Amino acid sequence: MRTGLYIFDTKERDLKEVCAKNGFEVSIYCCGPTVYRDAHVGNLRTFLLGDLIKRTLTFSGFESNLIQNITDVGHMAEDLVGNEIGEDKLLAQSKVEAIDPFEIARKYEANFHFDLAKLNVIPANSYPKASETIDLMLKLIAELIASDHAYLGSDGCVYFSATSYPRYGEISGNKLDSLKPGYRHEHVEDGAKRFHADWALWKAAANRTEMIWDSPWGPGFPGWHIECSAMSLHFLEGNVDLHLGGIDLRFPHHENERAQSNSAVGYEVVENWVHGEHLLFEGRKMSKSAGNVVLLNDVIAKGLDPLSLRLCFLENRYRSQMDLTWESLRAADATLERWRKKMLQWQDEGEIENRFVSDFCDGSLTDIKEDLDTPRALQKLRRLEKDELVSGATKAACFNSLDAIYGLEFAREPKAKAEATPEILDLLEKRSSARAAKDFGQSDELRDKLLKLGISIKDSSAGQDWDWI
Ligand SMILES: [Zn+2]
Repeated sequence: MRTGLYIFDTKERDLKEVCAKNGFEVSIYCCGPTVYRDAHVGNLRTFLLGDLIKRTLTFSGFESNLIQNITDVGHMAEDLVGNEIGEDKLLAQSKVEAIDPFEIARKYEANFHFDLAKLNVIPANSYPKASETIDLMLKLIAELIASDHAYLGSDGCVYFSATSYPRYGEISGNKLDSLKPGYRHEHVEDGAKRFHADWALWKAAANRTEMIWDSPWGPGFPGWHIECSAMSLHFLEGNVDLHLGGIDLRFPHHENERAQSNSAVGYEVVENWVHGEHLLFEGRKMSKSAGNVVLLNDVIAKGLDPLSLRLCFLENRYRSQMDLTWESLRAADATLERWRKKMLQWQDEGEIENRFVSDFCDGSLTDIKEDLDTPRALQKLRRLEKDELVSGATKAACFNSLDAIYGLEFAREPKAKAEATPEILDLLEKRSSARAAKDFGQSDELRDKLLKLGISIKDSSAGQDWDWI
């Protein structure tokens, strides 16, 4: 079934129409978070891309089945070009925070869902966890060994034989003969692999005692890449109409996933590989070492509507590198406030011209179906805002209707402060006292508690002020 939605396919390097192989339902797989830390705003940009596609399909009358995995085991620390150089990210963080690795996973998984809810992301149909789908991975690895696409190395790890998949490299352009020996220099693999670009599907536990499972090849844990093959093949029944992820996952993660999945079933599993581009913040790449990582909570802590982040992303094409700034976030926040105030006025101004509304919405949908050109569609929305020939009621109807795609809550009314519960008022008072006593640890703790209750705080020389998020 054709959908009329065209998106850039990284592998074909061209626009490709999204087609639902299974009738009306488009099957989508989006690589999810590795839950050892909070997702930063760059990661959230990719997750919002999935939401935009899902909303566009729904608006166009199609169903979608979106699967997003939660990686809670097997994702090793990497260097800048994807070489695995450290230990499991979950176990490393578990040492830093001195708590059980599975508790780390559940903590950051909860934060991930909190962020998605604040950004108005429609939940995926399922969020399978790596640690709960080990059986699927073991079955797939056994099949790959049986068909000679994988082998047991001399170190007890199971490796995928890269040369057994001659079409390796078509997504990223990184063909096997151009990958130099030493590309992967994970020490446990030295000499155990048949070919330097082979990668581990199953890793022997060696000295590791946590997050390990039994397998036909001894105790160990899965590699990161096999997780996405196992999940997409199982939950989407071997057919992925759209596969989403950040551009940094194009290689090696998606090349390896494609090789594994296609080798297992003997056909092209993914129809369209879609990648969201990098996000810079204030002109720089975000990194922990540079100390410039921005989380959604940082946006909220500045008193900005989290949906201002959503608006900023919609005003830039998903496959353009984007430079997000505090200034653009503040401008988006002001725009949302202005639109919501105008919506209140417009509702009572004149009659709704239904024909205009349906033509306007069709025009916007046409833009968005052309490789998700939301910047162009939003320019038209801004022109409509200022168009004096169109009645207020008609404008409000257009905004309301298109909000099903934008998810910006145009019709939301600001909540009155008087509605704060006694619990919130009590926490606010305690925080105010903590600040007066210069107990900043306590004050930050209370701020986090209030954040979870939907309250953002602004501190100034005049004291603390608060608002609903
Ligand atoms: Zn993945």
